[in-house]
Amino acid sequence: KEALLEVKNLHTYFFTESGVVPSVNGVTFSVKKGETVGIVGESGCGKSVTSLSLLQLVDESGKIVEGEILFEGEDLTKFNKKQLRKVRGNKISMVFQEPLTSLNPVFTIGSQISEAIRLHQNISKEEAKLKTIEMLQKVGIPRADKHYYSFPHMLSGGMRQRVMIAMALSCRPQLLIADEPTTALDVTIQAQILHLMRELSQEYDTSIILITHDLGVVAEMVDRVIVMYAGQIVEQNNVFEIFKNPKHPYTKGLLNSTPKIHQLKDQLESIEGNVPNPFEMPAGCKFHPRCLFATDMCRNQEPPLFQSEDGSEVRCWLYEEQEVNQV
Ligand code: SF4
Ligand code: MG
Repeated sequence: KEALLEVKNLHTYFFTESGVVPSVNGVTFSVKKGETVGIVGESGCGKSVTSLSLLQLVDESGKIVEGEILFEGEDLTKFNKKQLRKVRGNKISMVFQEPLTSLNPVFTIGSQISEAIRLHQNISKEEAKLKTIEMLQKVGIPRADKHYYSFPHMLSGGMRQRVMIAMALSCRPQLLIADEPTTALDVTIQAQILHLMRELSQEYDTSIILITHDLGVVAEMVDRVIVMYAGQIVEQNNVFEIFKNPKHPYTKGLLNSTPKIHQLKDQLESIEGNVPNPFEMPAGCKFHPRCLFATDMCRNQEPPLFQSEDGSEVRCWLYEEQEVNQV
């Protein structure tokens, strides 16, 4: 299938009083039509900043300093605010962890979804209302015609997240970006909501970028996995290979520290050591201070991303011999 989104050599830096933080440092990946791609890593690895960069939503101190974000062949980094507004919520939708911050407390959920639909589609209020109720039913809101008039605070966290998904999918986006969409919810609700996202994305042929620290979620949801560390991609492969045959020592660490699928805690935090201080990035491989296999070469020379013919990638000197291309 063809690529819907192509991110090429993306660099997003934060310009702070203490110095420049290269949060995203040369990231290249693509998302095919209908594909679900998971981006995983510890907090601070650059996964959220990568996703926020796509629609230029990083806060003011952050800036895309290099790279291209091709969506349907057009470079989103060149879009102005007005052009981005047209894309956002229409062709590309986002769902975040805490829906209370994205839903307006003073309007009913129904009117907010209707408005979102009417912003991008030329239909009457009545039609928008019918569409909204249909979407609310689809995401499993009971008595959707009554809940149309509910305010966000009247709903549980799980119900609010369903509303956000209804809103995000109401314009049938080509791409849904979900950043930790279920982290705040309990395990049962989490499973239901992920299942729902997957079902609707298949029905609408929507591609998904799922940002998460939870490998259990990744195993259930995604086709392909991107592992990030210190602002870079360190491994990329299909979900089956990532779990069966992880290559990068960091990926192996993540998997070892995941005792069970569905275990709800910050599993990724249990790898020995910490993510590097952005102002004192280690020389050579950025993972070397935590890596059991580190050699002198690792401490001095940064490994490139070694690419296999099957499309998998790994940024580690251990794979220098067997791989074909360097990028
Ligand atoms: Fe470990 Fe060296 Fe591979 Fe980095 S390049 S992950 S330090 S073995
Ligand atoms: Mg985050």
